[in-house]
Amino acid sequence: MIHHIEVNVSDLQQSIEFWDWLLIDLGYTRYQRWEQGISWIYGDTYLVFVQAEAQYQDVSYHRKRVGLNHLAFFAKSKEHVDELTKKLVEKGVQILYTDRHPFAGGKEHYAVFFEDPDRIKVEIVAPKK
Ligand SMILES: [Zn+2]
Repeated sequence: MIHHIEVNVSDLQQSIEFWDWLLIDLGYTRYQRWEQGISWIYGDTYLVFVQAEAQYQDVSYHRKRVGLNHLAFFAKSKEHVDELTKKLVEKGVQILYTDRHPFAGGKEHYAVFFEDPDRIKVEIVAPKK
């Protein structure tokens, strides 16, 4: 069980706008908020986003580099994946692997993949049953 995950972001406000509705939709609730950060919690696991300090912003995130590649969340169902995909498209979010969507993760894996404002890959996957 993961306790929490903390991610540094280039523009906290932009990340809040991107993540808030999505995490709420996925069952998270708003948890902590302070000047340089925010978190949402689900059960005992929370997800934190913190404004990266200016001096560390010269190198941006890239998922092909060493480090985090993507964050994957459970949707409630395949229909939920579809609903979220529609909302993401409406919000202008770039969906990844559209040629293979919703099976880009494999035939048995019903999911949508996209990028957050810092291009961190996000996956939302339907439970197996
Ligand atoms: Zn994955």
